[in-house]
Amino acid sequence: MKLLIVKMTAVLFVTAMFLSATLSAEVMIVEDGEALAEVILPEDPAEDEQLAADELVEHIEKISGVQLTVVSGDGADGDRTLIRLGAAADEALENMILEEGDSYSSFALVADDAGISIRGLNPEGTLYGAYELLEQLGVRWYMPLDIGTVVPESSSVALDYQETVQVPSMVWRQLQWLRYSPPQEYRHRLRLFGERRLTGRHGMPGDPPRGTGRNQVCISGDYAEGALEAVIGALRDRYEPTDERFDVAMGPRDGGGHCQCDGCLELDGDAWDPLGGVPAVSDRYIWFFNQVLDELEDDYPNMHIAWYVYHNYMMPPENFEPNPRIVHVFAPIDLDRTRGMDNPMSPDRHILRHVVDGWVAFDPNEMYYRGYLNNLACPQFPYSQVDRIKNEIPALYEKGLNAARVEVIFQSWASTPITPYLVSRVWWDIDTDVEELLADFYEKFFGPAEEPMSSYFQELEAAFRDTPYHTGSSYLYFPIFNEQRRDMFRRYIERATDMAEGNNVNPVYAERVRMIREGFERLELFLDMIDARNAHDFESAHSIKGEYLELTDEMIDRGWVVEWERRRGGYFNRFFRSAVVSGHHRTVEEGDLVKGLPDEWDFLIDPAEIGEIAGYYREGVLGGNWQPLKTTSLSWSDQGLHYYKGDAWYRTQVTIPEDFAGREIYLWFGGVDNFAKVWVNGELLGTNREPKHGLPGELGTFRPFDFLATDAVRFGEQNTVAVKVTNDRLAELGTGGIISPVMFWSPHDEDWTP
Ligand SMILES: [Zn+2]
Repeated sequence: MKLLIVKMTAVLFVTAMFLSATLSAEVMIVEDGEALAEVILPEDPAEDEQLAADELVEHIEKISGVQLTVVSGDGADGDRTLIRLGAAADEALENMILEEGDSYSSFALVADDAGISIRGLNPEGTLYGAYELLEQLGVRWYMPLDIGTVVPESSSVALDYQETVQVPSMVWRQLQWLRYSPPQEYRHRLRLFGERRLTGRHGMPGDPPRGTGRNQVCISGDYAEGALEAVIGALRDRYEPTDERFDVAMGPRDGGGHCQCDGCLELDGDAWDPLGGVPAVSDRYIWFFNQVLDELEDDYPNMHIAWYVYHNYMMPPENFEPNPRIVHVFAPIDLDRTRGMDNPMSPDRHILRHVVDGWVAFDPNEMYYRGYLNNLACPQFPYSQVDRIKNEIPALYEKGLNAARVEVIFQSWASTPITPYLVSRVWWDIDTDVEELLADFYEKFFGPAEEPMSSYFQELEAAFRDTPYHTGSSYLYFPIFNEQRRDMFRRYIERATDMAEGNNVNPVYAERVRMIREGFERLELFLDMIDARNAHDFESAHSIKGEYLELTDEMIDRGWVVEWERRRGGYFNRFFRSAVVSGHHRTVEEGDLVKGLPDEWDFLIDPAEIGEIAGYYREGVLGGNWQPLKTTSLSWSDQGLHYYKGDAWYRTQVTIPEDFAGREIYLWFGGVDNFAKVWVNGELLGTNREPKHGLPGELGTFRPFDFLATDAVRFGEQNTVAVKVTNDRLAELGTGGIISPVMFWSPHDEDWTP
């Protein structure tokens, strides 16, 4: 953004000082509870101009208790200072703006001895100029909750003399809330919107014929003809010929299933996607988009195609040069969804720089930013992404990414209170001093508790930024929230609570600290529940789960955690609930724990798939290059395996207590990512693909399952448990292998069935 503030000349300032000691370079709006200004709207104001007037009146009244009058056209009271809005302000302001840029939401705000004028290049700009004025008065809209707005109180309101022009950095700014929809006015207050762009879409217009993989189109036409004709026909039907710029969104459907016909494979050549470990298909799509643009060039010379650079079409093409009218929308879902691309703790995310540079080399007309601004697949625990917002967004802007539409699958204010505000300010002004903005937030939002709360958030950011974890999503909580950090965070929050609840303190500060405190307590309950689960103490785990769900309910009712988390599809229910319920059912309600298996097993990867031939499942001691690997306390990604895909083996030895002899014994797994084949003492019990006994009827990484093992176990002796895991896809949590506890248990009723 280009920000221009021309101060009053020194000469004028000195003259004013001579005239009166109290006269300063400010426009008085309210003085000692008396209105000195009124708001002027044009006749027939546009919706955003009217909103600008309403917002000014509402917030100045909140500050001072004084309600300004709003008049239209020339109905002004001659004695009062005028705040002219939009078309009621001097048209010359538009020329001031145009000297700096012509971006859609730009505005000029002028305050001098002639009053105040705010005018945008369009009504949205005028509205954002009004927000700028209110922010200069100290108003902040951090979140759309009663406690989320900060309004200072004062009997006088004055605005500094200025000539301010603001032109937003990102031409379009959208937070795409998928499970939560804040009020429109909150989005305006964050200055989102701008010049609307399309930023890609999954799927092709015209429903072209699918290829061999069924999910995706046969791009080459070798296996199924007619893709090009279908897409071109659909676009000709949809648009009249025009020289105007417009964008069409298209791309592969979400998911895999790319056509494997000879023609399509030939378009891809030897391109490879190193992260997914699969062939890259970018080339075939670039070839196709080039054809579409060429075919339509005569009638639509300024048509652009916006598409997601995503998944295994993220790597730049090797065989075809993209038409500059292809708009690349970077949506790197596989590249560390937490940290920024220059963070040395995240070599994965560094690949984004390589990817973007590769596409920039083709000199496209435009490129856009997508991604995630919350922790995908996490039940909304405390989280911080300042590193990405502060460093990555400006670095990508420098490379030419000038529009942003980023997914926020959830927005829970107790976990990420500041992210939407922060990112919207950086999109507006890429040179925003993020640390200054954060310091302003701690001060204004937490008042007397500023110091411990700023320490809390800074340490939270440092933990996410500097911990060398690998896994994304919820599993990163185990390395991040170790005992030492949990103690530290708890101390900050306790101190903040004391300070915010002091005498004569506005109760809003205590309520804000409480929101953050409960967000942290909710995480602690989760971690305690997981610890109990990992220790096979399902009685405790189940009871903590009850407390966790109760607190979650209360926080949802207050709007602090998003409602979706209490539904069946919420992430806690999807990933963590089943193992606790199932374990409790088996070891407390209907049976007894016989023996919990350890966290650490012997482990061997088997990319050549020779384990069954070599007999890795056999009982007793087995030689070979086995390494210790943790199962419940760390994911395999966090133990040096990155996103390993393929076969791997786990082995361990346990003694089954003699006193269970004569009872039925089951071997239970809390969850394996994603297929398990299980032996006890060399005897095959079954797989979770086709379970022979017991659960699951439902397949899935986060579903418990068990096998009847009575005939395979030996009481009072060592037993060998061997598990072959086949991991063939990247789970949302970035895990792999055994990820939940394993145990032998025995039902009270010998006829028990799952
Ligand atoms: Zn094909």
